[in-house]
Amino acid sequence: MKKFALAGNPNSGKTTLFNILTGSSAHVGNWPGVTVDKREGVYKKGKTPISLVDLPGIYSLAPYTPEEVISRNFILEEKPDCVINIVDATNLERNLYLTTQIMEIDVPMVIALNMMDVLEKQGDKIDEVKLSERLGIPVIKVSALHGTGVHELMQKAIECSKEKRKATTVLENCDVAHLIGDVNIALEAQGIENPLFHAIKLVENDELEVKMHPTTIKMVDDFKNTFSDDTFGTDFEALVADARYKHITKNYSPLLVKKNNGLKLTSSDKADKILTNKWAGIPIFLVILFSLFHLTFGEDFLFLGKIFSLPTIEDLGLADNFGTALLACFYDGAVFSPGVILFNLMGLLTSTVFGYIGLGLESLGASDWVLGLVCDGVLGGIGGVLSFVPQIVFLLLLLSILEDTGYMARVAFILDRIFRKFGISGRAFIPMIMGFGCSVPAMINTRTLVDEKERTLTLRTIPFFSCGAKLPILTAVAGAIGMMTGRDGSIISFAMYVLGMVVAVVSILLMRSTTQRGEVSPFIMELPAYHKPSFKGLMVHLWDKIKHYVKKVFTVILASTIVIWFLSNFGWNWQMCEIEQSILASIGQLIQPLFTPLGFGSQLNSYGWVFVVAAITGLIAKEEVIATFGTLASIFALSGVEGAAAVNAMAIGTGITWAGLIAFIVFNMTTIPCFGAVATAKGETLKGKFRWTLLFWIVASYTVSMMAYLVLSWWWTSFIFVALAVALIFGIKLYNKNHPIGEKK
Ligand code: GDP
Ligand code: MG
Repeated sequence: MKKFALAGNPNSGKTTLFNILTGSSAHVGNWPGVTVDKREGVYKKGKTPISLVDLPGIYSLAPYTPEEVISRNFILEEKPDCVINIVDATNLERNLYLTTQIMEIDVPMVIALNMMDVLEKQGDKIDEVKLSERLGIPVIKVSALHGTGVHELMQKAIECSKEKRKATTVLENCDVAHLIGDVNIALEAQGIENPLFHAIKLVENDELEVKMHPTTIKMVDDFKNTFSDDTFGTDFEALVADARYKHITKNYSPLLVKKNNGLKLTSSDKADKILTNKWAGIPIFLVILFSLFHLTFGEDFLFLGKIFSLPTIEDLGLADNFGTALLACFYDGAVFSPGVILFNLMGLLTSTVFGYIGLGLESLGASDWVLGLVCDGVLGGIGGVLSFVPQIVFLLLLLSILEDTGYMARVAFILDRIFRKFGISGRAFIPMIMGFGCSVPAMINTRTLVDEKERTLTLRTIPFFSCGAKLPILTAVAGAIGMMTGRDGSIISFAMYVLGMVVAVVSILLMRSTTQRGEVSPFIMELPAYHKPSFKGLMVHLWDKIKHYVKKVFTVILASTIVIWFLSNFGWNWQMCEIEQSILASIGQLIQPLFTPLGFGSQLNSYGWVFVVAAITGLIAKEEVIATFGTLASIFALSGVEGAAAVNAMAIGTGITWAGLIAFIVFNMTTIPCFGAVATAKGETLKGKFRWTLLFWIVASYTVSMMAYLVLSWWWTSFIFVALAVALIFGIKLYNKNHPIGEKK
């Protein structure tokens, strides 16, 4: 089977094109660096199937980032039958810079001139026939988003793949052209493949090449002794880069005719004037973030209930029937926000359906333990998790919209100024925000951070950005706190999200001044143009994010709810027993004292172990925590209650305080993430750093939740923590003064 590779700049639309050609649903994001690994698929719409590889986005074939090395080695070593170079027509110069480098490899190549829809909408024109003539490479206009031109593109690529292509370069007239020619001949004589490419990289003093051709590099060094340029001296890398850009602006740029001569601001520029404004940028971001949470979790939509003091359902004195229950999904003393309505509807649906299943089983004469297992164990656990699905989907949808419009990339940009102060570049924001969806892709995305320390730092803080699976914990526990204290649960959820971010910042500061000292790498990321998110793109996105979740519900969670039900209904003598004699209770009670400083340990009455057990089961998957509550709620003679109601019942039953509940959320949010994320962290961290990463999570979660509990219970303990913090900062400063960077081995 023939193999084609898609290569291009980050955000040029490679993955969109890949998805449309292969019919797959890889993650598309409107910011650079979403694809960090190559991905394969098959194009089946031609005469013969063709294998397609989506390479990570790169700006150049230099060996500086892992993406560049992956893409470069793939083209050089795996020798695809054709390289489809995607060029974002709205960013022509920068994209062609890469093109001029791929050209230098002996590989068939076609150019997909992408984003033609945007160009046409702006009224700009591009002469692709001339462009193709001048480059000596076929150019096909496409719009990956709308799928126009993509099959012509493949047709052309198939045609090209039938013939060999000899490498060409745009450096023929530059000052080091002769040197390149000589090195090329020398390498050719040594029988090296792709001599032109290697010759140019050698002249650029490319690290990888210098190591590979130690003898030939002498030619370059000798030449340097006789040559010096006014601007670049003997920095041939800069000289070559300059020559490439000059060639591009002279020969290719004039082929793109802009309607407004590039003088008028595009609407994207106008929007950026406000959204990335030095002063307004961050407040706008916070308002958007708050609206997002209000829409998802708000129990008093637009605060209508408060403003008009609306009556509750009880006040209205409605009959207790299904109609009232349905009404209660939308309104009870306040209009609920869309996210909450979805949650309530799903809850009503699951409890109704599960109720009928229970009745059905009873009428069939099922034994008590079967009823217990099915209703309390399985349905209770699964129901608890399932009812959150619509709400999670809704939140992810809102996040995806922000991401697809290109706004998230702006946030990375406006946050860079602040991030920098904390010792990290704004680029780290992208994996962090991905962490709100799922830690696994977020951790993989840290590969886009060039600096190793920065990468370690970011990876460690990703679990603090509460993922979709932790959302049920947040809503249910925050909801229970709301019931206990009469406050709006959504404000607590929002505060918890913010707290997670604060913990991340503090951890970064701490690590930056202790184990991970060093400079912040510069912010290099270009802002993609704003655009309307496509419906299909959003759906692909959403599905990408929720499929793991739904799969988990019916596999890991189903299996472990059964195990937990068993452990909580059977004693060590393998006989069914009361829950307080169960295996689960005894394990919980054994480790419970460890959690006393966190407010959910020994101070609770004999049922207090439920919180410990729930937190431990969270290590399997975070959804487990709430599933476990659903299962355990039956202890309090409450089967079939879910979410906040289940937690509230437990809070009353165990005597946990609201401060303890907050500490419980904090612990779950900051501790070791689920199995999947831990395995990813192991794969993505440097050797030897993984153990420390695990330890870091344990220490961080224990410390922060202890602080939360103590300070919220006894406000004066905050003085102790402030004093400790001051002492710590002072100690670190003193140590670092005596041990400047550099001196360390
Ligand atoms: P990659 O980083 O090269 O893989 O780029 P993606 O495929 O993730 O696309 C980046 C962004 O550009 C996404 O938001 C896409 O929806 C958008 N995009 C891709 N191709 C087109 C196109 O032809 N037209 C428009 N308007 N947007 C596109
Ligand atoms: Mg991609």
